[in-house]
Amino acid sequence: MNTYHISVIPGDGIGKEVVPAGLRVLDAVSAIHGFGLHYRHYDWSCELYKSTGKMMPDDGIERLGDSDAIFLGAVGFPGVPDHISLWNLLIPIRREFDQYVNLRPVRLLAGVPCPLVNADKKKIDFWIVRENTEGEYSQVGGRMFEGTDREFVVQQSVFTRHGTDRIIKFAFEFAKQQKRLRVTSATKSNGIYHAMPYWDERFAAMAKGYPDIIADQYHIDILSARFVLSPERFDVVVGSNLFGDILSDLGPGVTGTIAVAPSANINPERRHPSMFEPVHGSAPDIAGKAIANPIGQIWSAAMMLEHLGEQQAASTIIHAIERALCAPDRRVTPDLGGNCSTDELTDSIIGNLK
Ligand code: ATP
Ligand code: MG
Repeated sequence: MNTYHISVIPGDGIGKEVVPAGLRVLDAVSAIHGFGLHYRHYDWSCELYKSTGKMMPDDGIERLGDSDAIFLGAVGFPGVPDHISLWNLLIPIRREFDQYVNLRPVRLLAGVPCPLVNADKKKIDFWIVRENTEGEYSQVGGRMFEGTDREFVVQQSVFTRHGTDRIIKFAFEFAKQQKRLRVTSATKSNGIYHAMPYWDERFAAMAKGYPDIIADQYHIDILSARFVLSPERFDVVVGSNLFGDILSDLGPGVTGTIAVAPSANINPERRHPSMFEPVHGSAPDIAGKAIANPIGQIWSAAMMLEHLGEQQAASTIIHAIERALCAPDRRVTPDLGGNCSTDELTDSIIGNLK
């Protein structure tokens, strides 16, 4: 029997509520499909930061290094600036483990109310591939003449050939593997003078190696409009760290709610563990009320199993989510119009695993 070692970091806010829900589903599905899961739990969070001044211990990265995957809830909480939680936990994990792909599905699930007109006639089902290690999220730059009226800030972005090529290649390879027709690139080469023309150049060069796949590109502004107006035309969308980040909240927004959206931070070469987390954050406004929607976390668990090679178990989870959402007497959380708790929705999903 295969046994996988999973590092579990619930984090803050509703992370501490939806991660246990995800683990309950994982335990149930592993029993059905006959594999083992061994968890190591870490309390790394803003709470830990407040008491120790650290989001995670100095050897945090080392401790995670030998696990098969990392299962994360959400970090960030009022009282600790967002850049602290991001740059002291999430970003070090993504970079140290070279999780250079952030992969997020955008799929209209039956039973999730969609804000688009005629949504029932559209098949929205595509993937966003976001660069996860460089680009606009850089610490290169600084502030000069601080506090004077000559004060200014420089923020550099960094696009290496290595980093740009590997994310674009992943997008094409992924499209090929998923039998998708089209790869769309998010750009802004009319405004961003150096980086985006370079991005376009590398995208065009890579596209030549995939003559069977349609390669197109849009400036990020019109691409955002197209996400809303014609989301059914996308298959795989690839973007830089910043553009990918924005699109991957817009996509789930278009399909109804960020609460059900999953994400994977992947090291495709499997030299290091990959990390799976919902798209949503710690949602302080509803934390502690036991009403958080666990589907984003549970779907992230399915992406984790897929990555570990347990494809059947992953589909079992996704089908159970769909069945739970479509049941005539469905039991869902308030964000989906119901009045059930996190645990009740989780029970309903577990009841639909088969
Ligand atoms: P982050 O910066 O960590 O991404 P954020 O500021 O984008 O966080 P979220 O924590 O994702 O914000 O929450 C945004 C809104 O969506 C909040 O009103 C929150 O209550 C709601 N929300 C997020 N996740 C869920 C969930 N799982 N269930 C129900 N509502 C949610
Ligand atoms: Mg957010």
